[in-house]
Amino acid sequence: MVEAEHVHKTYGENHVLRGISMQVRPGEVSCLLGPSGSGKSTFLRCINRLETIEGGKILVDGELVGFRERNGKLQELTASELAAQRRDIGMVFQRFNLFPHLTALENIVCSPVMVKGERKDVATAHARELLDQVGLSEKAHAYPSELSGGQQQRIAIARALAMRPKLMLFDEPTSALDPELVGEVLEVMQQLAASGMTMIVVTHEIGFAREVADTVTFMDEGVVVEQGAPDEVLGHPREARTRDFLSKVL
Ligand code: ATP
Ligand code: MG
Repeated sequence: MVEAEHVHKTYGENHVLRGISMQVRPGEVSCLLGPSGSGKSTFLRCINRLETIEGGKILVDGELVGFRERNGKLQELTASELAAQRRDIGMVFQRFNLFPHLTALENIVCSPVMVKGERKDVATAHARELLDQVGLSEKAHAYPSELSGGQQQRIAIARALAMRPKLMLFDEPTSALDPELVGEVLEVMQQLAASGMTMIVVTHEIGFAREVADTVTFMDEGVVVEQGAPDEVLGHPREARTRDFLSKVL
């Protein structure tokens, strides 16, 4: 589902991604760990082309992200082609960015209707299913300000799923939450993983990574330090940098 090969990204002088490679097969959950500034968020943004890359390539579902290959040459996609490509990738951020003036239900319905031209009754029926899936059926008509952080984040997940994505990217979805609200969000993510969604999750929740991830990647300073099954990377890390990081977050 995702094949990233030798991805490079720089901001001015700052060489943030220095040849990142990662493969995620359909239905797999891949957790990405690493210290602050190691390039985790940048890498996620490259996958849905919120950032351009300077080297390497990324394929999502067999399609080159941001480019098309014609007669052996790469051509940049047009803005509308790029938007179409991005539609298939859901993203959930650390800060829930729900529209404050829309109810939970309206937040979920608006993208499929506005962006995909889905019929409103179809989108609404789907949104109600999604509210049920994230355990918030009774909050359909609540505004974000009337919801807890955990509830807002579950609505943000439902909103991303409303676009029927092939791939979901999570960037520290629980790190802005009060500790007692983390579990409810992780539970929704765990159910989503069990339903077969392909997911890349940047997280410091080691328990979640150990239980849910198929692969764990530990990144530092823009390179992959260690990658493998959770038991290996988290249980028996080979690299000193991985061990050092884990000793700080565990
Ligand atoms: P954190 O755990 O704190 O979220 P991270 O691993 O997600 O860290 P990134 O946000 O990807 O790290 O940042 C990697 C590096 O890229 C940092 O040095 C950061 O300052 C730099 N950077 C990120 N975004 C930009 C930007 N838009 N412009 C310039 N530099 C940026
Ligand atoms: Mg980040």
